[in-house]
Amino acid sequence: MKKVPAILLIAFLFLSVSAQHPPYYKNFTVSVYTRAYEVRDMADAKKLEESWNLISQQIKIDKIYLETHRDTLIVDDKTLQDATKFFKSKGIKVAGGITYTIDESNNFETFCFSNPKHRKKAQEIAEYTAKHFDEFILDDFFFTSCKCDLCIKAKGDMSWTDYRLKLMTAAAQDLIIGPAKAVNPKVKVVIKYPNWYEHFQGLGFNLDAQPKMFDGIYTGTETRDPVFSDQHLQQYESYLIIRYFNNLAPGRNGGGWVDPYGASYLDRYAEQFWLTLFAKAPEITMFDYRSLQTPIQPSQRGAWQGSQTSFDFDAMMKPAQTSDGKTVNRPTIARAAGMSFEQVDAFLGLLGNPVGLKSYRPYHATGEDFLQNYLGMIGIPMDISPLFPTDGKMILLTESAKFDPDLIQKIKERLQSGKNVMITSGLLRALQGKGIEDIVELRYTDRKALVSDFRAGWGRMSKSSQPILIPQINYLTNDSWEEISATNGATGWPILHRAQYSKANLYILTIPENFSDLYQYPTDVLNRIRTIATQDFNLKLEGPSQVSLFYYDNGTFIVESFLPEPVTVKIVAKEPVAILTDLQNKEVLNGTAVQNPYFRNRQSTPEKTFEITLKPHSFRVFEAR
Ligand SMILES: [Zn+2]
Repeated sequence: MKKVPAILLIAFLFLSVSAQHPPYYKNFTVSVYTRAYEVRDMADAKKLEESWNLISQQIKIDKIYLETHRDTLIVDDKTLQDATKFFKSKGIKVAGGITYTIDESNNFETFCFSNPKHRKKAQEIAEYTAKHFDEFILDDFFFTSCKCDLCIKAKGDMSWTDYRLKLMTAAAQDLIIGPAKAVNPKVKVVIKYPNWYEHFQGLGFNLDAQPKMFDGIYTGTETRDPVFSDQHLQQYESYLIIRYFNNLAPGRNGGGWVDPYGASYLDRYAEQFWLTLFAKAPEITMFDYRSLQTPIQPSQRGAWQGSQTSFDFDAMMKPAQTSDGKTVNRPTIARAAGMSFEQVDAFLGLLGNPVGLKSYRPYHATGEDFLQNYLGMIGIPMDISPLFPTDGKMILLTESAKFDPDLIQKIKERLQSGKNVMITSGLLRALQGKGIEDIVELRYTDRKALVSDFRAGWGRMSKSSQPILIPQINYLTNDSWEEISATNGATGWPILHRAQYSKANLYILTIPENFSDLYQYPTDVLNRIRTIATQDFNLKLEGPSQVSLFYYDNGTFIVESFLPEPVTVKIVAKEPVAILTDLQNKEVLNGTAVQNPYFRNRQSTPEKTFEITLKPHSFRVFEAR
């Protein structure tokens, strides 16, 4: 097939959306969030018209959030009314937003909810916003980091976590939801949570009580650059956090929220949108109105561009025809977002419901922070649930599961009903002396080993590209068995260990001291871990790390590479899968039948292997039949 020139393709995309009305996309809606500073500036009608033209020429928007407060700036009545009227006249839905910061530039200084003056102000802002809008959202900062003398006194003997959870749960009702609904009984109040879920309880976000109190929740899916940004969030979180929050508030997670900050190359911006949508978020919110107007810089072009990657920087930079017949010569961030949406909207409707290996995070738990996202990065489709998962052949428990006082009993019940459990070395350490020995006698020692030689299965050795520091786990010979071993010198230790109990197996996965060293495990080791971890699914990934598999319950799946160079991976599918169809270019892969290579794998279901090549930072979408 002849390739359609990108310029024509873009012109077509713009023209084709111009003829439509909201909602512009088949599978999701698109919102933009506006900070109080830019809402204030909307008092200038000419500037408003110009900025809106610039954005709306490049991307189709269904809804806009107008913020009433941030950093003690409150936008006046007239400006809010005029801006609302302006956007409604364009057919755009309008909602309010509140950021409860005193001064964002001072370590994101929040309100002090122990301080009567701050409490009064917080309530007034909620009432003011409810007066203007039938819906508003709280952006990220409805927590408190305050440790002033008032807070220290009020906390008393409680932990900061307990004090802040109690304080902020009550504040949600007493200062926000209650007063807002008293002013406007119709108002829908939504709380948007940021991306650092592992630490929420310490700052007062209550994922147990609050999702039931608010009319909806919303999810921060901005992961930025894992290395160069302070939070070091793994890319996979942009997908997994949507799944987790859906499990916290089924049917009431409004969508995902992305900004263009914290990444040097623009593919990262598009990836965050794609991942959010792969998780089936019903809406995307782009933060924010200002950044959408920022011109794209040539320095944001990734080194791998020009090789037909999923995000085509050069096509995006070409002048484009707009819906009103004008030409946009200098694209801004809005165009990058628009292109990302068009691309995935074409196939999202073909995907079923996302499924993954269920991992348990009890409410307010922490331990092995964000580890599930690293496991997603090594090609295990993941899911996180606030409830102990009782179904499925396999579940994964990380250290945070230790917050459930009945955990040992729940693990035993699963094993006795014939269902497997995988725990991490961090959870083993936490449960040591607390009942785990009633299932298997293992010792998480305080010795470490620096390893680069591995044996996965029978006799076959492989090497990691660099040495990995692991904890040494000791076990009783013939009481439990090494599935994967690491060696150094004349001795070795378990990487994946198996202990039989009643009708099933407890597996122990050794997590390197540096979680990102999971990415350094050799392919054979990763493949073996995936085989055990993904036994509920009829296909699995084989290949290096930093390639993720997104699996759906209708046999469709996505393979996405976060590597800076091309990579070839394999999909191994169990019968009756016979072919894979690429849902974007309709290519059909016939695959090859394989003998099962693993000595200890007693499964006899015939399998087929399909080789898939991925460009850097690119994904492919398939249906297995
Ligand atoms: Zn305080």
